[in-house]
Amino acid sequence: MRIVITGVPGVGKSTVMEGFARAQGLEIVNFGTLMFEAAKAQHVVTDRDQMRSLDPAMQRTIQKQAGQAIGAKASCIVDTHATVRTPRGYLAGLPAWVLDAIKPDVLVLVEAPAEQIHHRRTADPTRARDQQSAAEIDQHQQFNRAIAAAYAMHSGATVLTITNPDGGLEQALQQLRNALG
Ligand code: AMP
Ligand code: MG
Repeated sequence: MRIVITGVPGVGKSTVMEGFARAQGLEIVNFGTLMFEAAKAQHVVTDRDQMRSLDPAMQRTIQKQAGQAIGAKASCIVDTHATVRTPRGYLAGLPAWVLDAIKPDVLVLVEAPAEQIHHRRTADPTRARDQQSAAEIDQHQQFNRAIAAAYAMHSGATVLTITNPDGGLEQALQQLRNALG
């Protein structure tokens, strides 16, 4: 099965996914890491958090390269974003040419209350997270739901929403296992 897992930065998607992938013996592919390798090879960034500020055309170029690399794999779980917040607005994480390369069976949206995500980002010193208000984070999560419908239409993938509130990691994992395990 090909699973794509998404969520706004700080929602805890990587943590939820690692627990699930380990239990299922699924290979995890981090889309941002594949893009970062492509971007570094082209000498356009030195930090992965700089990529979303690149010219959108450059982001799409390296995004396409990452999508093609994933298309060559059999079963896997892809850690990525439904949309990326750029200075020019939301960039689709899974435009048609990426969906056509990845061919997902399931698209997972990991969500949490915006206020909690806001606090998690403030508390994370390891990443250059965008400082957004809870209202902006809420708007981003709503936009991701909207675009997920478009992705479902284009690809035929099912869309599964998982909630990962504070202290709710085990329940989030259980939701994934119930649906996909
Ligand atoms: P992450 O470590 O998952 O936050 O990803 C790091 C960066 O990779 C993001 O901030 C984006 O710039 C980029 N990225 C990840 N997935 C995608 C995607 N599907 N489309 C465009 N950019 C992406
Ligand atoms: Mg992550």
